[in-house]
Amino acid sequence: MNHGAGRFAPSPSGELHVGNLRTALLAWLFARSTGRRFILRVEDLDRARAGAEAVQLRDLAAVGLDWDGEVVRQTERGALYDDAIARLTAAGLTYECYCTRREIQEAPSAPHAPQGAYPGTCRDLTEAQRARRRAERPAAIRLSAGVTEWAVTDGLHGRYTGVVDDFVLRRNDGVVAYNLAVVVDDAAQGVDQVVRGDDLLPSTPRQAYLAGLLGVRVPSYAHVPLVLNPAGRRLAKRDGAVTLGALALLGVPAEQVTALLLESLGLPGALGDALRDFRPEALPRDPWVLHPAALTAR
Ligand code: GLU
Repeated sequence: MNHGAGRFAPSPSGELHVGNLRTALLAWLFARSTGRRFILRVEDLDRARAGAEAVQLRDLAAVGLDWDGEVVRQTERGALYDDAIARLTAAGLTYECYCTRREIQEAPSAPHAPQGAYPGTCRDLTEAQRARRRAERPAAIRLSAGVTEWAVTDGLHGRYTGVVDDFVLRRNDGVVAYNLAVVVDDAAQGVDQVVRGDDLLPSTPRQAYLAGLLGVRVPSYAHVPLVLNPAGRRLAKRDGAVTLGALALLGVPAEQVTALLLESLGLPGALGDALRDFRPEALPRDPWVLHPAALTAR
C-alpha cells in the first residue's frame, strides 16, 4: 500500500470535454496502478460557473472513475493559503506589486531576465514610492524568487528546466494565485503524484521551487499530451459533440467514450483491464488528434 495520493483538479468553468476526461482517466490510472489514493479537488478560486462542479463530478463517475474522501474546494481553504503567504512574508520572500499588465509589458526587461518574466519593477521600491503607489491601486503580492530558472523531473518529459520569476502569489483583487494554491493543497492533501495536461509543464518549475521554499515535498510529475482537434489545436467544446452531455443526446453512452479514450492510450477498452495493463512507459507521447465524428461512429 502506497500512502500517497494522486489527484484530478478541474476548474469548474463548464462541462468537461473528452480531452479533460482523458487526462482524468490518466491521473486515475497512474494513482490506482501504484496503490495510491485518488482525490478530486475543485479549483474554484477563479472562473467558477454555478452548477458546473456537479456536472463535472457526475461525468467523472460516469466514465468509471472513483475517488477517495470528500471533494475539496479551494474557496473553502483560504486560511491555508493565507498562512503560507504569511510564512513566506515573515521569511522576507514576498513584496507588494502595483504594476498593471500594461506597465509590465512596457517595462524594460531586467538584464538576463528570461522572456515573459516579471521585470522586478516593484521589488526594490523605497517606502515613499510604495506609499505613493499603494494610494493608486491595491497591491498584488509577489514571490521574491532567488533563482531565474528551476529544473524538475517529469515522468514523461524527463528533466525539464523552466523560468522562475517573481510570480504572483495573491492577485490585487485578493484572489490567491493558482501556483500558490496548487502547491499548498497538494502538500496538505498528501498528494505526491501530479498527473495533468502538458499545457501546465511550463508552470511546474515555479511550483516545485515554491514547494521547496515552503518546506514541503515536491511531488512526482507526469505531464500528459493533450487532445487536439483535426486542425491541430487544443480540443475545445466548440469542436462539436465532445462532452458526455452532448454525446448522450446523440445516443452515445459514457462507457463507449471510456472505451475509445482507453483505446487511444493503447489500453483495453474496459477500465479494469486497462488498470491491469497500464504501463506509464508505454503511453503514447504525442497528442491524440480526435475527429469528433469518431466519438459517434460506433
Ligand atoms: N485547475 C487546473 C486546470 O483545470 C489544473 C491544475 C493542476 O492540475 O495542477 O487547468
